[in-house]
Amino acid sequence: MNENILVGRNIHVPLTCEKCGKANPEYKGVGEYKCSECGYLMYDDFGKVRNYLEVHRGATQSEVSRETGVAMETIRQFLRDERIEITAGSGVMMQCEICKAPIRSGRYCPECTKVVEKRQNAENSSGHKSNVQGFGMAQRGESGARRFKR
Ligand SMILES: [Zn+2]
Ligand SMILES: [Zn+2]
Repeated sequence: MNENILVGRNIHVPLTCEKCGKANPEYKGVGEYKCSECGYLMYDDFGKVRNYLEVHRGATQSEVSRETGVAMETIRQFLRDERIEITAGSGVMMQCEICKAPIRSGRYCPECTKVVEKRQNAENSSGHKSNVQGFGMAQRGESGARRFKR
């Protein structure tokens, strides 16, 4: 399998009605498309995953992929974009990129998100007050234990 074609956004979108063949189904939102001719409803990859998760809360990534036919990489893309969220108790779907804590969406756990955002804010304010902790609020997270290991 060519890994490269799975990287990025190769989301399958219905281009013609699967029932009557009319082109350009109308986009209804959240991954749903409706044929203007016969009213048939279709879904893109996001819609399929979303529908499946609505019914099968707690599904694992591989189960969702198998049942919907949507590539794992595409599902991971949705997770990273925080377009879908896997419910708690579904097993470890994602790992925080920094501390490897199990997370349900995005790239970092809440703790690391704070650290990353703080760092970005510090960078944005051109280095000036880069060691100011928090924003007016006393935050304990900075000291020792919470610091992620390298
Ligand atoms: Zn149709
Ligand atoms: Zn983390």
